[in-house]
Amino acid sequence: MSSGWLDNDFFNFAEILRAPRRLNNELTRLALATSKIEYAGPTVTHDTPARIELSDTEHVKRVLEAAIKLTDDFLADEFNKIGRTYEIPHLDLTTETNGPVYFPNTKRVVIPPRFFKELQLYASKYVERITLMYVVAHETAHHVQNLMGMNENVLTFEHKIEKNTAFSVLELHADCVAGMMMNALNRKKTFFHKGDPINMMVTAAALGDDLIQLRGGLTVNKADFKHGTAVNRMTAVARGLMLTSLAQLPSTKEFIAIAKQ
Ligand SMILES: [Zn+2]
Repeated sequence: MSSGWLDNDFFNFAEILRAPRRLNNELTRLALATSKIEYAGPTVTHDTPARIELSDTEHVKRVLEAAIKLTDDFLADEFNKIGRTYEIPHLDLTTETNGPVYFPNTKRVVIPPRFFKELQLYASKYVERITLMYVVAHETAHHVQNLMGMNENVLTFEHKIEKNTAFSVLELHADCVAGMMMNALNRKKTFFHKGDPINMMVTAAALGDDLIQLRGGLTVNKADFKHGTAVNRMTAVARGLMLTSLAQLPSTKEFIAIAKQ
């Protein structure tokens, strides 16, 4: 196993390592499963450093803007393939919200100023470039869902599932799309640095409902889950990292199965 993924300054690994054994085992398994991707291309071919100093807000913004541009180009091609035109979402870096979010009505991906401050709470000084790219790709994936007519109401109706399960399915689908887009883009442009796939999984895991509850000093309560557990989210990202196109995504039923694991 490479030591690259232990270098993640963002969600420090101490937290993940204190997490339930199953999470650790699963991370190790997925790390091995995706290690092929890590070594697929040269480890460093891009001139942007893999780590970004958080105090350099301008640099952080440039990476976010570059990330959405990359996903826009990729998605325009993907939509073309199915005879549709991709509508580019608006990236909003100034509106204050609780966290990164996508607004379907105005087709806006919002990465709020507060998010940068929160990153500084988690990270000592740096953030991995892939973490920022993953956050943008995940919110852009919600935009794709919107354009595809995939939402919680449709899911609860068509699959007879609880609303919270439907929310989790949308989150896991977005994680998978994010993983897929990063993998597909990496095949074209080889920008992954060593450890990037693992860092994406760790970022997704850290945003799992169970870890968020534990971080908040709460006991884990499945009834409140709306994003999937840390393991669910890592699994969805890892699935995406094996794919290169929207057409290859797992079915909704498979995402429901992951959400219920
Ligand atoms: Zn989301």
